[in-house]
Parts: sequence; structure tokens; C-alpha cells
Amino acid sequence: MSFRNHCINAYELAERKWKETAEKDAEDFRREAVKRFKGMFKTPVTSSSPINRRTAEITIDDVTVIAQRPGAFIEFYTLRECSECRDRFVPQNANNCVSLSDIGRDLSTPTVCDNCLKTMHQHETKVTEETITEKLREIFEIVQH
Ligand SMILES: [Zn+2]
Repeated sequence: MSFRNHCINAYELAERKWKETAEKDAEDFRREAVKRFKGMFKTPVTSSSPINRRTAEITIDDVTVIAQRPGAFIEFYTLRECSECRDRFVPQNANNCVSLSDIGRDLSTPTVCDNCLKTMHQHETKVTEETITEKLREIFEIVQH
């Protein structure tokens, strides 16, 4: 086997091992997160899926919670739905949920995703500019007469 092929084989083997480890770690985290969730919220889980070694998705009926481990502890964030475009996301400033009431608060609070916020802001800026132009025109007309 040529040196080139030796190198490529070694790389492919390392890649495969890395992928297997990453998948196993993600699955381990999913299992741990579900156990923690059931213990904390005293509720059975409908389904769950691993995302990566520090993130998993847990679904209970029609509610989805994202489990994350940013540090030593597992945190739970309600997956929210944008009131404008219906995209599902976790807001940047989301609070870690530690009770059913925390999840209930998230579900009862309308929220808008970053994309829609940006669009709304651009629209507001445009409206303000149009208002200013309109007022200036009025003032100009008053001054002229
Ligand atoms: Zn949106």
C-alpha cells in the first residue's frame, strides 16, 4: 500500500472512531437528560432524540424541551414557537426551567424569533422615516404660505 493510501486509511479510521464516540456520547447524554427530566418534572416523556454530546431534545405530548449541559449541570429550555413565522427556537435570553410553572410561563408568553424581530425593526424604522418626511413636508408647506 502506498504512503498516500496509508495516510488516507489512518484518517478514515480516526474519523470513523471520532464519529462513533460522538454518537455514543450524544446517546449517553440523551439518556441522562431524560432521566434527570423525569426526576425533576415527575412526568413521563413521549420521545427524545440526541443532538450532540451536550444537547438533546425531549418531547412530552406537544411540548418540546431542549436539554443542555453548558457546565456541570443539565438545563432545560422550552422550545418556543415564533408568533409571526411559527418557526421553533430557543430564545437567546431563555431561562432554565426548573418547574412545570417555568415551562408554563414560556408556553404562555408570546415570543418572536430574531429574523422576524429584525424585519419588524426595519419596518418600524421605515415607518418613522416616512413619518418624519411627511411632517417636514407639512412644515415646509406652512413656511411657504
Ligand atoms: Zn419568526
